[in-house]
Amino acid sequence: MRVLLAEDDDGVAGALTEALYDNGHLPARVRRGEDVLARHRQADLLLLDLGLPDLDGLEVLRKLRAVSALPVVVLTARGDERSVVRGLRLGADDYLVKPVRLAELLARIEAVTRRATTSAAPAPRTVRAADVEVDLDARRVTVGGAEVRLTTKEFEVLAALAARAGTAVSRQQLMDEVWGDAFLAVSRSLDVHLTQVRAKLGRPEVLTTIRGFGYRFGD
Ligand code: CA
Repeated sequence: MRVLLAEDDDGVAGALTEALYDNGHLPARVRRGEDVLARHRQADLLLLDLGLPDLDGLEVLRKLRAVSALPVVVLTARGDERSVVRGLRLGADDYLVKPVRLAELLARIEAVTRRATTSAAPAPRTVRAADVEVDLDARRVTVGGAEVRLTTKEFEVLAALAARAGTAVSRQQLMDEVWGDAFLAVSRSLDVHLTQVRAKLGRPEVLTTIRGFGYRFGD
């Protein structure tokens, strides 16, 4: 299996790479969060250290989950419980506390991939509602075939909803995903961005407000 390992510590990365290789996997190691986002399509599983030099690991995970269902096992420092909880909420499949025991790592990788392969088809990457089309991979939005230009944040709000079309998404989850932390995000910026997206799409029926909870894309 192709395992992408995001770890900035050379010692840890060396040991993990060797263990993965010895057990029949094809490890590829990167040091930065940006590299994960650039290379995740060439991997079957991501081992993600939360303490990376450029981007916070949770931010990497959030960005990845907006475009990919790649199985992710988070590597975390001991006692970092809040990060673990948030990691799992953002879509990590499992986590390991450092220092990582190799036998445990290999067992977790096996369990996660077994779950991933039995949980069926990948989600469609282009989502439609009425004549609004959201291409999650290309980050492109069209209405009636004409491209609509959204800012990065506007697109991320729309993508977070479109990725779960037909499902109500809570404000907290949206803020977690788009701003990285619902506790820090300013609630008003979500409203501002949604208002902008609605105005640009010109299709108010496509984005439904669920009073007291959040929003839904499509029926
Ligand atoms: Ca680190």
